[in-house]
Amino acid sequence: MDVSVKNIRKEFDRYPALNDVSLDIRSGELIALLGPSGSGKTTLLRLIAGLETPTLGKIYFGAEDASHRTVQERHVGFVFQHYALFRHMTVADNIAFGLTVRPRGERPPKAEIQRRVGELLEMVQLSGLEKRYPNQLSGGQRQRVALARAMAIEPKVLLLDEPFGALDAKVRKELRRWLREFHDRTGHTTVFVTHDQEEALELADRVVVMSQGAIEQVGSSDDVYDRPNSPFVFSFIGDSASLPVTIADNGVYFENEAIGIAPRNGDITSGNGTLFFRPQDVVLVSDPAAPALEGRVSTSRRLAGTRIADIDVGKPGEPHHVEIEVPLDAQAATGTTLRFRPTRWKTFAA
Ligand code: ADP
Ligand code: MG
Repeated sequence: MDVSVKNIRKEFDRYPALNDVSLDIRSGELIALLGPSGSGKTTLLRLIAGLETPTLGKIYFGAEDASHRTVQERHVGFVFQHYALFRHMTVADNIAFGLTVRPRGERPPKAEIQRRVGELLEMVQLSGLEKRYPNQLSGGQRQRVALARAMAIEPKVLLLDEPFGALDAKVRKELRRWLREFHDRTGHTTVFVTHDQEEALELADRVVVMSQGAIEQVGSSDDVYDRPNSPFVFSFIGDSASLPVTIADNGVYFENEAIGIAPRNGDITSGNGTLFFRPQDVVLVSDPAAPALEGRVSTSRRLAGTRIADIDVGKPGEPHHVEIEVPLDAQAATGTTLRFRPTRWKTFAA
């Protein structure tokens, strides 16, 4: 089911939690809403579910304006961070819940419900655990039961709000892979909320980066990581360094010194801007006459195959702090002066 969010605004007591948000979700797609806490991810998900009504704008399910449809009418399944399984019900009864509470005419016969529960258990790889109670399951198993329960009603759209957020890192990683496989098998249109960039980049077909109630960028993992379109996206996803620069026809300047990069790769071609690059996208410059950024190593530390140097560049009184990756054999002791140049970068208007 295609879902289209059109120019949505959502106010809580006049405070806009979302402002003019538009998004087209394609049928069968796994999309991640990624952003810091408070950016409006949950609000957008709840609007799609029908748990909130928009202040302005519309939500379409396929060609139909679903803006005023109830949760039940929208036929969505959802899973939240804090698994809300019914403690007093077995796994099987939890999964069957959405079917057993259907109005009489739509309720499948008991044998049919049993058959579906069996199928769903198999789908989430929990066959054999149907008689257990939630407190007899691990956190990861409980979230898979929650997913099976959401799937039981054969939802048109699956909405997942930080479903693995309460689990420890190792289980979270396993479930992430598992969910991707599950999605590829079942092909449900899925919207997944997370504040964890790694989770979003690994899992999603497309990532929607949100900040302060607005969408900053929509794209593949490669798009948002390699081609961030705003300073926010550049610094929110992955490690980055930034410096104030001046862009001229013949180069990019930091504190009136050319730094050896061309005035392209940016949203402006002249004037004051901010240069962004990633720590791994630099080379050391050994020729003292070649233009480069120059700074003093304040600390450096070894990672597995590389070394990270913290460098203060710029005037001694007001240095700018950047982190760069240097080869293990580089002279990068505290106090050393290093000269370097970004190999990939982007400039944005200041
Ligand atoms: P996220 O899920 O990205 O952390 P939310 O969608 O939960 O963000 O919240 C976005 C903003 O809307 C926040 O500032 C939050 O405080 C506010 N907000 C969310 N729900 C409500 C509500 N029911 N009443 C008032 N403010 C709300
Ligand atoms: Mg949230």
